[in-house]
Amino acid sequence: MKTARAGESRSDSTEHRHSQQRDALLAMLARREDHPTARELHAQVCRRLPHVSLATVYRNLELFVQQGLAVKLQVPGGEARFDGKRGHHGHVRCVKCGRIADIPARRLPLRASPVRRVAGFRILEIHVDLRGLCPECGREQRRS
Ligand SMILES: [Zn+2]
Ligand SMILES: [Zn+2]
Repeated sequence: MKTARAGESRSDSTEHRHSQQRDALLAMLARREDHPTARELHAQVCRRLPHVSLATVYRNLELFVQQGLAVKLQVPGGEARFDGKRGHHGHVRCVKCGRIADIPARRLPLRASPVRRVAGFRILEIHVDLRGLCPECGREQRRS
C-alpha cells in the first residue's frame, strides 16, 4: 500500500490523479455492454470525477486502443464507439440509431465456415459485422 508522503511533489499528485482517472474510465468501459461514445463515457465519469474534461476522456480512450485494452468502432456518419470487452466477439449495428450490440463468439460462424484456408492463410478468427434494426427502431418502423 502506498501512503502519501509529506513532501510529495505537485507532479506526483498530478500523476496520481491522472492514473486514478485512467483506471476509473477503463473500469467503466469494461462494465458497459452498449459500446458508448466518448461523450457518453464522459457524462458517466463526470458523476464520479467532476473535473475530468472531454479531451482527457478522448486521450485516454485512444491510449487504451493503442495498448489493446479497448477497441474503437467506427460508425459511418456518426461518432466512434468504444468497446472495453475482451475476447473475440462480433458486432451488430443498428442502421438507424447507431447502437451496437455484441455477438458472442460461440454464435460466430467460424466452425461452420467453408473458408478454412484462403490465399495460403489458415483462418483463426472471423469478424462479423452485421447491420440491422435494434428493437426500438424496429418497433418504430412497424408503427409508421
Ligand atoms: Zn436503433
Ligand atoms: Zn463488443
